[in-house]
Amino acid sequence: MDAGNKLLEGLDPEQRAAVVAPRGPVCVLAGAGTGKTRTITRRIAHLVHRGHVAPGQVLAVTFTARAAGEMRTRLRALGAHGVQARTFHAAALRQLRYFWPRVVDDEPWQLVEHKLRLVGQAAHRVGASTEAESLRDLASEIEWSKASLVTPEDYPAVAARAHRDTPGPPEQVAQVYATYEQLKMRSRVLDFDDLLLHTAAALEEHPDVAGEFRDRYRCFVVDEYQDVTPLQQRVLDAWLGNRDDLTVVGDANQTIYSFAGATPRWLLDFSRRFPEATTVRLERDYRSTPQVVSLANRVIGAARGRPAGARLRLVGQRPPGPEPEFAEYDDEPAEAAAVALRIRKLLDEGVPASEIAVLFRVNAQSEVYEQALAEQDIPYQVRGGERFFARPEVRQAMQALRVAAGAPGEGALDARVRAVLEPLGLTERPPAGGATRERWESLRALVELAEELATALPEADLARFAQELDMRAEAQHPPTVEGVTLASLHAAKGLEWDAVFLVGLVEGTLPIQHADGDDEAVEEERRLLYVGVTRAREFLSLTWALSRSPGGRRHRRRSRFLYGLVPDNHPAALPARGRGRDGAASRASLRDEARRRCRNCGGPLVGTMAVKLGRCADCPSDVDEELLARLRAWRTERARQLKVPAYVVFTDATLTAIAEQRPADEAGLVAIPGIGAAKLDRYGADVIALVNGTFPPDRE
Ligand code: ATP
Ligand code: MG
Repeated sequence: MDAGNKLLEGLDPEQRAAVVAPRGPVCVLAGAGTGKTRTITRRIAHLVHRGHVAPGQVLAVTFTARAAGEMRTRLRALGAHGVQARTFHAAALRQLRYFWPRVVDDEPWQLVEHKLRLVGQAAHRVGASTEAESLRDLASEIEWSKASLVTPEDYPAVAARAHRDTPGPPEQVAQVYATYEQLKMRSRVLDFDDLLLHTAAALEEHPDVAGEFRDRYRCFVVDEYQDVTPLQQRVLDAWLGNRDDLTVVGDANQTIYSFAGATPRWLLDFSRRFPEATTVRLERDYRSTPQVVSLANRVIGAARGRPAGARLRLVGQRPPGPEPEFAEYDDEPAEAAAVALRIRKLLDEGVPASEIAVLFRVNAQSEVYEQALAEQDIPYQVRGGERFFARPEVRQAMQALRVAAGAPGEGALDARVRAVLEPLGLTERPPAGGATRERWESLRALVELAEELATALPEADLARFAQELDMRAEAQHPPTVEGVTLASLHAAKGLEWDAVFLVGLVEGTLPIQHADGDDEAVEEERRLLYVGVTRAREFLSLTWALSRSPGGRRHRRRSRFLYGLVPDNHPAALPARGRGRDGAASRASLRDEARRRCRNCGGPLVGTMAVKLGRCADCPSDVDEELLARLRAWRTERARQLKVPAYVVFTDATLTAIAEQRPADEAGLVAIPGIGAAKLDRYGADVIALVNGTFPPDRE
């Protein structure tokens, strides 16, 4: 079979229709997991392969750096090298750097580095609040305005019409906005939205610039088109001019950035704007099991509003899998501990850590999960792509690779990369845990990138690899590290994992507090849950906790979106009482029944804290205060040496448990929940010596 036909392999008839449609407008309107991203990457590769367009003439855009990176990887795998796949911002940044001298002058400009500081100065000048919180709100509001093409003059009227929850009197917000723009102009810096505005303006106002650009780029593709803002649409229109070689794909039910100005309007109106467009609807869901698909259909089935009008019923194509699990917990740490244990079980069953994700509504929820995973010695990465290339070991490694690239050398790319990284801490087998492990994971991820590049481009050498890393760093596309992903629902869009944990599903968090009372905002929150559910291929867990902290008032209610979803005969559907009623997830945490009785009164232990301490919360504490103080001091020192937060070494609860139970040997130490083999290896000798008063321990 020739390569062209191979590109049509594994496509269903509708996907194929979109792939083979002639150059011109194409719109794929379809639900999650139906193969939209697959379809457009195949379409690009197909057009290139047939010679309808040169790879360099295609510009594919999407909304996150991660998604753009994903697209580049898929395109390369399909043999379409040289296609530009970028975020709107990255594309605009490149174009502007190129055109700027011609449309403005030779004086260079910089991207604004301390945006909040500028907003703060502006707020100060007009007498608005300059508290950190207010400044963040003001900055978001300015971003919304710019994304929505609203000028400071128009802001008060438009904000009123759009029922914006303005961070201060609208007139004052408008003044801050106007002053911010002036300050920015005076210091010759641009913010992210300016990149887009100036790009559009350069093309709109300079026919020579537009001519050159349109000659270079002839074919446009947009993924996740439901999240385009008016500003981005204006850039897209400027790119297109009066041409119509545009392929868009999207799912109106996954619109989750309206708060930032995104609107599914252009997606839903595409065939009105281009009546001759090829429009394709997909409803076969290839990503998820029928169990997950059925839940997704029920979540979005209750939606209202315009996006819901475009709703498609997904039909699951994969073999059946487990039913989604629901579980309720007393408090957040208990929820996180149970999730970590469930993850441990999945890992033991052979699910790779990189195929597991914990998704939450707001980033602050991440911390308790970081802690719970650290306690289980489970590697994880907090999503926020830029962090990978910002890590010191990665910067060090890139520097070393650049130096090595300048020296003569031979051999396979990945072997050479390994050799360069070994002195930096890359070993054959992973080190036990903590900071050295994280460092190792980063280095290993770089080796994987080298392997990936060597497969796609066998002639690639060290210099080419160093260049690839620079490009990725610029586009902030991190490689996948072998760890559980912790990410917000927003950051998870377009991605997929074998196992997904949706956590913290309580009123006030999902829907988020400030959405309450605004029907449209609540609908967006529902779509977020839909996005979350549809990230799972097989295993899906939905959990919530009745109070924030152990022993707190259990006044939280589970999310309204779960009503009718939790099976009626499910224990979590009943009023909450005590532990152990939450089905599989908490059964998994019943590691050792003996550990679950109070060593004081012999009664059952309720709550994570009690389990950890091995006694009821109100049974008298027999903590050795002096020992506890020594343990704390030791922990501070270790954490400082390892450059990790103290809880990564031991949590407060674990320290207290040690100070109460005073384990004299290893057996006593591992009997304390939270202390596994890895912690025993690393800290066991120290802790036992501390307990026995013989610290520091003898070391050979
Ligand atoms: P989202 O709305 O979440 O962005 P999507 O519509 O872009 O989803 P893809 O990511 O393209 O969906 O595809 C989902 C999964 O289904 C991927 O793993 C993809 O490889 C697989 N897939 C897509 N189409 C087919 C097909 N025809 N046969 C088999 N697998 C497919
Ligand atoms: Mg997609």
